[in-house]
Amino acid sequence: MSQTPPPTRVRAEIDLGALRANVRALRARAPRAALMAVVKSDGYGHGAVPCARAALEAGATWVGTATPQEALALRAAGIPGRIMCWLWTPGDPWRAGIEADLDMSVSGMWALAEVTAAAREAGRPARIQLKADTGLGRNGCQPGDWPELVSAALAAEAAGTVRITGLWSHLACADEPGHPSIALQLAAFREMVAHAEKEGVEPEVRHIANSPATLTLPEAHFDLVRTGIAMYGVSPSPELGTSEELGLRPVMTLAASVALVKRVPAGHGVSYGHHYVTRGETTLGLIPVGYGDGIPRHASGRAPVLVGGEWHRAAGRIAMDQFVVDLGGQKIQEGAEVLLFGPGTRGEPTAQDWAEAADTIAYEIVTRIGTRVPRLHLNNDPHD
Ligand SMILES: *Cc1c(COP(=O)(O)O)cnc(C)c1O
Repeated sequence: MSQTPPPTRVRAEIDLGALRANVRALRARAPRAALMAVVKSDGYGHGAVPCARAALEAGATWVGTATPQEALALRAAGIPGRIMCWLWTPGDPWRAGIEADLDMSVSGMWALAEVTAAAREAGRPARIQLKADTGLGRNGCQPGDWPELVSAALAAEAAGTVRITGLWSHLACADEPGHPSIALQLAAFREMVAHAEKEGVEPEVRHIANSPATLTLPEAHFDLVRTGIAMYGVSPSPELGTSEELGLRPVMTLAASVALVKRVPAGHGVSYGHHYVTRGETTLGLIPVGYGDGIPRHASGRAPVLVGGEWHRAAGRIAMDQFVVDLGGQKIQEGAEVLLFGPGTRGEPTAQDWAEAADTIAYEIVTRIGTRVPRLHLNNDPHD
């Protein structure tokens, strides 16, 4: 059998051994709660199916996605057990969700009407989880509308069209420890859960914690924690510490190869708009990756890379397919490895460094890496 050579232009190496270690570390932080591996948006760019599988191997017992299409794709790929999805839009495939045994979030009366209709068609009950808006102000049911939603869901449960498997919510400022909204949201959640339970709801799971709450707020763990970014080894926020300080190992390394090296004279403009001009005679290195691969153009002039053991910043504009670094006097050959970001253990920048260069958060840096970048999943075997 001939082996396909690894892609050289650019590749995202995904260390599933690191992901499993992160899942174990997060379970140790929330020992009494079950762990949901959040793999929405293709596992934050890391590949939803292999990441879900690795997380389950390391002890996660739930998998979570935003959209029903993402959840159905996981089920179709053979991911077993509990899969929950929470971002429903009218007309979405409720019946397919019932048939795939998904746990489906319901935030309002329109969704309860659609899911019960689908359950009657399917001839079996839907597993639903009622979502409370405890203060995030995004999806979820407002406290004032909660009694109506709870009593309608209980009526549907009595009629056999749904089983209410969970009560849940989401935090607005868990990445800012001590933010006054946190205590207010937890109090609102406890009240909304208490109301539903007093009315007769018997949820399997109550949950509100994302990664930052899993790491910093034990009182928010309840029965289940939903971890996304921390599972990928990225700190939810620099204020909470670096990955290393949090005991996490970054899972993605974005590596490329230098496509061209050339000497240019002083005063030479570089890339569109000539926002960079060489000060003296120098050597330019062409990095064959750009915003078409999910590299943020907003980081033009600032994006860091490691080439031949030295950091360089993008010289001038990041284009769709490429950008340039000024290698100065460095002796580099075409084909040399370029590390855009990774765990930092070889001296390379991290996703957080890129986030700072692009005025965004590290979540976006890993998630936006596009489909033109091949993923190379490493350490696939959990017993290695
Ligand atoms: C994305 C998401 C999570 C995971 O958040 P992280 O901060 O990445 O851990 C949890 N819950 C909901 C509802 C989400 O949308």
